[in-house]
Amino acid sequence: MSMQSPRRPLALVIHGGAGVIDMATLGETAAQRIHADLDHALDVGYGVLAAGGGALDAVEAAVCALEDAPSFNAGRGAVFTADGRHELDASIMDGQHRRAGAVAGVSSVRNPVRLARRVLEDSPHVFLIGAGAEQFADLHADIERVPNEWFSTEARRLQLLEAQREEQQTWQASQDLRGRYFGTVGAVALDSRGHLAAATSTGGMTNKRWGRVGDSPLIGAGTWADARCAVSCSGWGEYYIRNAVAHDIACRVAYRGDRLRHAAEDVVLGEVPAHGGDGGVIALDRDGNVVVAFSTRGMYRGWIRPDGSRGTAIQRDD
Ligand code: ASP
Repeated sequence: MSMQSPRRPLALVIHGGAGVIDMATLGETAAQRIHADLDHALDVGYGVLAAGGGALDAVEAAVCALEDAPSFNAGRGAVFTADGRHELDASIMDGQHRRAGAVAGVSSVRNPVRLARRVLEDSPHVFLIGAGAEQFADLHADIERVPNEWFSTEARRLQLLEAQREEQQTWQASQDLRGRYFGTVGAVALDSRGHLAAATSTGGMTNKRWGRVGDSPLIGAGTWADARCAVSCSGWGEYYIRNAVAHDIACRVAYRGDRLRHAAEDVVLGEVPAHGGDGGVIALDRDGNVVVAFSTRGMYRGWIRPDGSRGTAIQRDD
């Protein structure tokens, strides 16, 4: 009788952003669409894991699916900058080897996470921005390009107009971005070899200017993966950068031996709000423990645990 090695746990967690998600405004049809988009991204990412693929491939595939869904603020459906364009940011990290790739301020790459993966694989660098990142994309025929307007949706245009109207009324109030974002996407995965990976992609904040870049493409702020855990964030990026949120969570696990849930909750429900910010996080450890924590009213999210159980949710109590 042959000895079968025990099946290693597989797990995948995805998010479509934290924020003030008001179900009355969102409406039943849009909510159903979002659940369906999350389910599709879970299917795509988990398909990679179930076929024996790596965590890095799984998070890239899941995030690509979310970038293609106009409901979310990444890829098509990204928010508008103050001058009516789209500037996209993304990052990806391989926990096994601590390799990482990231891009910021790209404007013609259909799936920025794919370009981040190319930076990881095919460049000696980690982080490329703006025109340089576009030039790097020119070197890769598999990176699909689109006109900037391709990312535009009517819903995001209305959000820009509203943000600009508010800004004219009171500059001060318009600078409080708490809960004013939602739709950044991300994924964390554990593969059959026990390796972890994380990826995050966003259009950033509505009405952003001056080449503003948030936490999402910053390794250690919006994205992190090592041998113990993988983390992808969504929230008020300036606070996530200043608190090095993704890395702080991983450090608490590595140095203090915290359980992942405690580490994530201490940072996202403690540190970030204590400094005036808000947002959420998804995370996974090498045992397949799934963690979702957010200080906002809602967070679009989905998960498949090692026991095969799966779900998608929008509000806190879903
Ligand atoms: N963290 C993103 C940023 O600051 C926004 C978001 O998560 O929705 O660009």
